[in-house]
Amino acid sequence: MALDIFTLLLVLLLCNLVMAGALWIAFSGSFHNGLEKWGISLLLQADAWAMFMANAFWPGYFVVVAGQVLLCTSFTLQAGALIEFRQHRAAPACIFGPPIGLVLLSLALAGSPAAAGVVINLIQAVCCAAIIGQLTRQDLHHRRGTRWLVIAAYLLMLVIFLAHASFSLAGLQHTAMLIDPGQWPSVCVLGAIVYVVIASFGFLLLQKERAEDEMRELATMDPLTGVFNRRTFIQLAERELARCRRSGQPLRLLMLDLDHFKNINDTRGHLVGDDVILEFSRSVADCLRREDLLVRYGGEEFCVLLPDADTGTALTLAERIRAMVDNSLMQTRAGPVHITTSVGVCGDDANAIDSLDSLLSCADNALYLAKAAGRNQVVSSPYKGEKSLIPQAASRK
Ligand code: GH3
Ligand code: MG
Ligand code: MG
Repeated sequence: MALDIFTLLLVLLLCNLVMAGALWIAFSGSFHNGLEKWGISLLLQADAWAMFMANAFWPGYFVVVAGQVLLCTSFTLQAGALIEFRQHRAAPACIFGPPIGLVLLSLALAGSPAAAGVVINLIQAVCCAAIIGQLTRQDLHHRRGTRWLVIAAYLLMLVIFLAHASFSLAGLQHTAMLIDPGQWPSVCVLGAIVYVVIASFGFLLLQKERAEDEMRELATMDPLTGVFNRRTFIQLAERELARCRRSGQPLRLLMLDLDHFKNINDTRGHLVGDDVILEFSRSVADCLRREDLLVRYGGEEFCVLLPDADTGTALTLAERIRAMVDNSLMQTRAGPVHITTSVGVCGDDANAIDSLDSLLSCADNALYLAKAAGRNQVVSSPYKGEKSLIPQAASRK
């Protein structure tokens, strides 16, 4: 079956334009995470394919070189797009270095198109390898399926460029030109069609997964501290309560509240207050076991659920946190700030605990007692069940 190279190039060019257009329609106004660079790269590639088509009418070394320079720039832009997607800055040297090198080498090798063919294809192969390198970075490891999809697209182009370079070297192809009789150029263009579709589709999937991760994080975590928000905590704590009931384990809850925090806001400003809350949550998190659940329960109020912890363990931890906060300074944008925290502790065997709400109000009462006793202290309340807690909670008002 003879594949018409001109038609294939036209299909490839249209693929690029359609992809770039779809990107523009879907993301116009919010080009971030490398999307802008990716869109430009698709347009440059379309220009490159147009150059290769033009070569059919105006055969010439520099027409092909111009196409290859555009193609090379599109690859470096795609590398830049992936660098930006990884939340780094793409250095201009990464983007413009390879195409400039390609221009200089093409000029130097103008008298020897076969050698130029080898060199140009090797440069393109190196660009593809560099992009694959970006995709194998640690920070993209959790995007397994999608990452491999995009890697496969660049591997395909890498193989094509290497094969093209070795054919040029062996004299099977007399130049680096894509428009050439025979099936190989058509196979190259077919490969490029597959690459454009898979790489762009994969890049968009990466963007979609990133957006989903961000939404999930927004829904489950506290934006200031990165610890669980109240809603997530309630879900996880209910599950933990049920698990501890099944396995007959005890459960303890700490409720922590910063002392006289309003003073910090009033004297140093809310941003410094935010820094204190963030530093405090980090310090507390450092004291916890992997299975403990930390939540920002309210403004400067945190809870820690301790599965399989008796009163002694919970009190030891609470005292460690209290002393650590008292003996250290919270680093803020306005310099170090000293704060203290009061802690309420409550809990029992999970089977004796009626509900999470009752456990929370028990710890809340213990915290109230710690505040009433002068702050910067730990107070433990015995868990007395749902009914006995209601009057105590009401007595705070
Ligand atoms: P106490 O020792 O009795 O706990 O005194 P306090 O001043 O810490 O307690 P209070 O509840 O009166 O004040 C808490 C303050 O925390 C009030 C509110 O403005 C502030 N706050 C709540 N959320 C945030 C936040 O996200 N950032 C900052 N900077 N302040 C917050
Ligand atoms: Mg407070
Ligand atoms: Mg408070």
